[in-house]
Order: sequence, then structure tokens, then C-alpha cells
Amino acid sequence: MSAVVLYGREVSKQIRAELKVEVDSIKKMGLHPGLAVVIVGNDPASRVYVNNKKKACEEVGIRSFEYALPEETSEHELIQLVETLNEDESVHGILVQLPLPKHINEERVLLKISPVKDVDAFHPFNIGKIMIGNYDFLPCTPAGIMELIHRAGICLEGKECVVIGRSNIVGKPMSMLLLHDNATVTICHSRTKNLKDVCKRADVLVVAIGKPEIIDADYVKPGAVVIDVGINRLPDGKLVGDVNFESVSEIASYITPVPGGVGPMTITMLMKNTIKAAQLSKE
Ligand code: NDP
Repeated sequence: MSAVVLYGREVSKQIRAELKVEVDSIKKMGLHPGLAVVIVGNDPASRVYVNNKKKACEEVGIRSFEYALPEETSEHELIQLVETLNEDESVHGILVQLPLPKHINEERVLLKISPVKDVDAFHPFNIGKIMIGNYDFLPCTPAGIMELIHRAGICLEGKECVVIGRSNIVGKPMSMLLLHDNATVTICHSRTKNLKDVCKRADVLVVAIGKPEIIDADYVKPGAVVIDVGINRLPDGKLVGDVNFESVSEIASYITPVPGGVGPMTITMLMKNTIKAAQLSKE
């Protein structure tokens, strides 16, 4: 293997230690950041994510409030809870764990979260602010990827960056952040023609598809930086990314592993956004 592995888990530890110092200092000024996490139903993966978020809160000294609602909760009841949390001064960030049960319209619920407490940065107001480059919160996964890239000392200016995936939570905001760093950005998706050729142009390739190990060394230019966002569970229970780590790590210059790459960074950025929301509440 020739690539340097970007271990998000390690970088996360370092950032969480930095955030703890920040929290300790703002607590001394009488401000204790608080994050409300709302989970509806019994999806096991969501349960794991929520527990990891609570653990991260403990680690950095953020107060966490969990609201575990039954599967049959109505959209109206969920919106009422969000509105109560919007008014609660001890809550600075509100996170509604997705996916929600089918009978609840996710978009309508997310729209009700006050933009100043929207620590996932999913509200159209915050997405708009990211577009114009004047933002308070960044969506956690793209923000985590940027931290990994910056802390590895990788310069993006003028680089050809290719993002595979155009979701509102990963692909689109990721592309915008790369653009803000003066990269030349191409966004690919399921209808992209000649995907291999487009990917082979990339100095930096960000893969957010959701299909196990679909990207192998044939898609990668030698020396490229490869960021694997995908999290896929195989039938035998093993977690893998969208990138075939074994073959791609032979030719890439940097690569993120799955697990232990982008995933831990995502939760750490949620902590960062919550602290920012607490600070903004005093402005
Ligand atoms: P979505 O399903 O919303 O988006 C997937 C994107 O991939 C779509 O734009 C789709 O194109 C595109 N796509 C699908 N198949 C292909 C293909 N064969 N070739 C090219 N493009 C394709 O997923 P998300 O963005 O929400 O998540 C992507 C992955 O990242 C998932 O594995 C998810 O679990 C993981 N994830 C990881 C996080 C982390 O913290 N590490 C956080 C969030 C997500 P089209 O638009 O045309 O359908």
C-alpha cells in the first residue's frame, strides 16, 4: 500500500479535545451548550447513531437531551416537540434523527427547526447561506471531510475535484465547500456518462454513493486523494465503504478507511456546530 491513510477516528479525538477546552471555557462564562436529539421509532442503525452522538456530547462536555418517541408518533406531535425545543433556552442545537417513519414528512419537520438551532444544517435557510459562502453551520459530513483534508495539509486550490453523489446532505454541500476552497468541481450521479473517465481526471475524488466497494483502482488517477463517504453493511455484518480500499490504496496518495474515516468526523462536526449555536445564542 502506498497511500497515506487519513484516520478520521484519530483526528476526531484531537478535535474533540480542542472542543472540550472551548466548552470548559464558555461554561465558565455561564453558558452550557445543549443538544436535543430526537429519535422516532426503533430503527437499530438510528439507535446506534443517537448513542454515539450522546457519547460524543459527554466527551466534550455538551449537555444532551434525548427524546425517544414511539413509532406511532404523529407528525403533529413531533412538530410540537420541535417547537417546544425551539423555545427552550437550555437547548442550543436540535437534531431529528433520520430516517423518520414513513407516515411523517421529513421535509416539513426539518423546516420547523429554528435555523439558529439547526446543527445539521439541513434547513433551506442554512443551505442558502452555504451557497453564498456566508454560513454559521456546515453540514456535518462535508465539514468533517474538509477538516480531514485541511489537517492533512492538502491544498485544494486549482485542483480537479470530482464528487460522486448529489444528495442534499453529502454530495451537493460537499461540492460547494470544495468550490469555496477554489477547487474546480465536477458532480457525478447515476446518470453520468463515462464515470470512469471523469473520475480518472480527479486530483481529489469524493465518493458518496451508498454501494459497497463500487469504485476500484480503475476509477482513480495515480496520486489522487480518495475520500470514501459510503457506509455499507455486507450480509456477513462487515462494514465497508463505496471504495475498494485494497486496490485503491495501492495507487492513491491519501485514502480514508471505512470504518474509522469520515464517520467519526461527522459526529465531531455536530459537536462543533452545537458549540457554535450556543455561542450564537448570546449574540
Ligand atoms: P443518497 O442515496 O441520497 O445519494 C446517493 C447518490 O449516489 C445519488 O446522487 C445517486 O445518483 C448516486 N449514485 C447511485 N448509484 C450510482 C452509480 N452507480 N454511479 C454514480 N452515482 C451513483 O445517499 P447519501 O448521499 O445520503 O449517502 C451516500 C453514502 O454515504 C451512503 O452509504 C451513506 O450511508 C453514507 N453516509 C455516510 C455518512 C458518514 O458520516 N460517513 C453520512 C451520510 C451518509 P442519483 O442522484 O442520480 O440517484
